[in-house]
Amino acid sequence: CQNSILTGPIETTMCDYETVESVNDDLFSNISKLVHEPFFRYFQVDLYRECPFWSNNGFCSNPSCAITSVDESDVPEKWRAKALSQVDPSSIEKRHSLPGCYYRDSDFCFLDDNTEGDYFDLRLVPERYTGYSGADANRVWRSIYEENCFGLTEMNLMSGKSPAPVSLPDTMVEVLHQGEEESDPHCLEKRVYYKVISGLHASISTHICHEHLNQSTGEWAPNLRCFIDRVASHPERLQYIYFDTILLLRAVARLGPYLSAYDYCSTGNHEDDVETLSLVSKVVNIAKDAGRFDETVLFRGENAAVLKEEFKTHFRNVTRIMDCVGCDKCRLWGKVQTTGLATALKILFEMDEKALDPASNSNLLQRSEVVALMNTLFRFSESLKAVDDFRQLWQQLDTEV
Ligand code: FAD
Repeated sequence: CQNSILTGPIETTMCDYETVESVNDDLFSNISKLVHEPFFRYFQVDLYRECPFWSNNGFCSNPSCAITSVDESDVPEKWRAKALSQVDPSSIEKRHSLPGCYYRDSDFCFLDDNTEGDYFDLRLVPERYTGYSGADANRVWRSIYEENCFGLTEMNLMSGKSPAPVSLPDTMVEVLHQGEEESDPHCLEKRVYYKVISGLHASISTHICHEHLNQSTGEWAPNLRCFIDRVASHPERLQYIYFDTILLLRAVARLGPYLSAYDYCSTGNHEDDVETLSLVSKVVNIAKDAGRFDETVLFRGENAAVLKEEFKTHFRNVTRIMDCVGCDKCRLWGKVQTTGLATALKILFEMDEKALDPASNSNLLQRSEVVALMNTLFRFSESLKAVDDFRQLWQQLDTEV
């Protein structure tokens, strides 16, 4: 756990750990209020689509894996499925449709087509220990990491072909870092891809360990041993939580003008809308300070376009792999966060200033993308707070000994 104290610059960003830590309290206090606002707390998703890659996905029978949706009549009318399915016809032809979902060329994820799917109140579903584990959870993570194989375009999971079988490595880090030191022209993008995924995995693990169920006492409490084993004893995993936070902050900063012009009108209550807008602008200001990620260093050079397409295809597949997660609560947060990260990647790598201009591109993002982006940033900010708690627990232990 001593490894959990990080200082200095963060690789592939223009930021350091101290900067992220110095803004996180402020970020957390504002974004935790923001995600409680009506606009941000309802997420619509089809949680029960078939896993497209294997048939026997196991299901978590633990009651803490289960969730309930909210009645559509509780959701502000403007955001109900019927209203959302009235899509601008000019955007339809640019979509690639699959049953229940679609993607546009610029997307890094599959989005729901808003005709099916339930609404979930994200406030009521904390991301925490559920007991979902074993071969099924392991297979999902392994498949996600296998999407890091750039250059193998024939392994296109969108056709429904499952990944080539590979034996499970002792540590995924070991295998996935292979070749990094070689002069691989795809090296930087591959590393970024890996960091995004590993950071997400580490953030989920941090939540699991921070809100952990003690099976013998039945009490929920932080489990320091769990955090040390899963995250702190692998310092690079912790670093990638910071990395993802900066990437998300940079996307929010770039999206600032669009977010400020966005119509959050949801409940018909003017005060709610003013409060939402005020919190959004506080979060955007913090993001401008700390979101120092230089997206222009990626996808350059002669094969940049091909590489970016591959990166997108792989990330889209990750969003579909979420349909294979055998625990409802984990699947919901998996979908929210892979959509949130995919939205950030789209903002950074697909959108120039003109595209981000709310005046010229008012339909830039779906509501679900905006909701997912902010809720994902909230989760990472919460993870960094949890890391602080674990550091204090560690220090207490140290002084007691
Ligand atoms: P796992 O976390 O399953 O990891 C498998 C292997 O991956 C490890 O052995 C290690 O070699 C490697 N690894 C671990 N972390 C990293 C990292 N950060 N970077 C690189 N490699 C790594 N469980 C819950 O209790 N609550 C949840 O909300 C929840 N959400 C989930 C969401 C998704 C999308 C998925 C796929 C799983 C979720 N789970 C959740 C399950 C949880 O992530 C673990 O799979 C489970 O707790 C079993 O953990 P494990 O110790 O076997 O290792």
